[in-house]
Amino acid sequence: MAERIIPVVDHRVLSTAPDIPAELEAPTGLVADSLARPLHDLRISVTDRCNFRCVYCMPKEVFDKDYAFLPHSALLSFEEITRVAKVFVAHGVRKIRLTGGEPLLRKDIERLVEMLAGLSTPDGEAIDLTLTTNASLLARKARALKEAGLKRVTVSLDALDEKVFQRMNDVDFPVSDVLKGIDIAHAVGLGPIKVNMVVKGGMNDQEILPMARHFKGSPFILRFIEYMDVGSSNGWKMDEVIPSAEVIRRINAEMPLEEIEPNYTGETAERWRYKDDGSEIGVISSVTRAFCHDCTRARLSTEGKLYTCLFATQGHDLRALIRSGRSDLELSTVVANIWRRRGDRYSELRTANTDLTERAVRKVEMSYIGG
Ligand code: SAM
Ligand code: SF4
Ligand code: SF4
Repeated sequence: MAERIIPVVDHRVLSTAPDIPAELEAPTGLVADSLARPLHDLRISVTDRCNFRCVYCMPKEVFDKDYAFLPHSALLSFEEITRVAKVFVAHGVRKIRLTGGEPLLRKDIERLVEMLAGLSTPDGEAIDLTLTTNASLLARKARALKEAGLKRVTVSLDALDEKVFQRMNDVDFPVSDVLKGIDIAHAVGLGPIKVNMVVKGGMNDQEILPMARHFKGSPFILRFIEYMDVGSSNGWKMDEVIPSAEVIRRINAEMPLEEIEPNYTGETAERWRYKDDGSEIGVISSVTRAFCHDCTRARLSTEGKLYTCLFATQGHDLRALIRSGRSDLELSTVVANIWRRRGDRYSELRTANTDLTERAVRKVEMSYIGG
């Protein structure tokens, strides 16, 4: 196979302010990319900071006290985020997910939720507004988030065993506080709640069965995520990935499962249900079964750069446009043009050539781009 040269890049240097196309068009209208994928989802990273140091996301050795997180002035303000979100909604976005970093660390996040909850699609429908969190602050904030208009939350939890969980989050955060956050979020109506467990071989895969047993028959949908080669700091290796097929095999051996239809085209999780009680689990096989062909997700980084793929090395600087006084029409035209040119399918290419991941590709960190 021919040698593939992959440049090492720094996203903060390489992000570009997009050109304004000479011909402007109507500011609304559905757009599809070069592979005919519509624009449906927008993930917004509201902070690059986190109070956890999960080994697969923000390892302590890299995200230490000297790490240069973004200054507050670099962050998009709530007004700027809402303005950008409105443009995306006009182009087809139906679902907005707030993420980070840890989104509940962003001061007054409820105010942003309220502003985004006020958006509606061109045909007058409400936006599906959700948030992914490590739940460390969820018990405290769930009610205010619900009252501000948040529909539901997804909670990350990688183990039930205290030692294993603390080894994963690396800041000694207790399992019981996460479980309490989940219960309170459920009680105030932030459901259906999904619980995401990243499975890292040799770290927490012995927790697959205890997690499955714990959430079986509960109102919460547990989803197992394959450990991904996102970012450049987690030292990802293919042999630490536990394929979803193996997760299903282990659970099925004890609690028989059957596969069920996806809820909608483009759903990232494959759905399974227990044969005895009908409760559901999901697996997200980003490594072993890429789903790029259905990927309808755009990402807005903490400082306002648009990324059309989780594994992108380059973003489009929308903040530069906003802060240089460009109009909504110009912003809208730029977004439509970026999406139309999009041809990303990193995971499919990685499946075809795992060598891609083990070479010196400097990808954007998940905490910055938004998981
Ligand atoms: N801090 C919040 C949380 O943990 O839920 C939101 C941001 S976090 C980056 C979003 C999701 O990305 C989490 O569910 C996390 O487990 C997942 N994630 C982070 N790094 C990952 C990796 N290397 N592979 C797979 N999933 C990862
Ligand atoms: Fe923080 Fe979420 Fe990353 Fe863990 S996965 S370090 S909680 S941003
Ligand atoms: Fe979408 Fe990129 Fe992930 Fe493929 S690799 S599913 S294009 S974000």
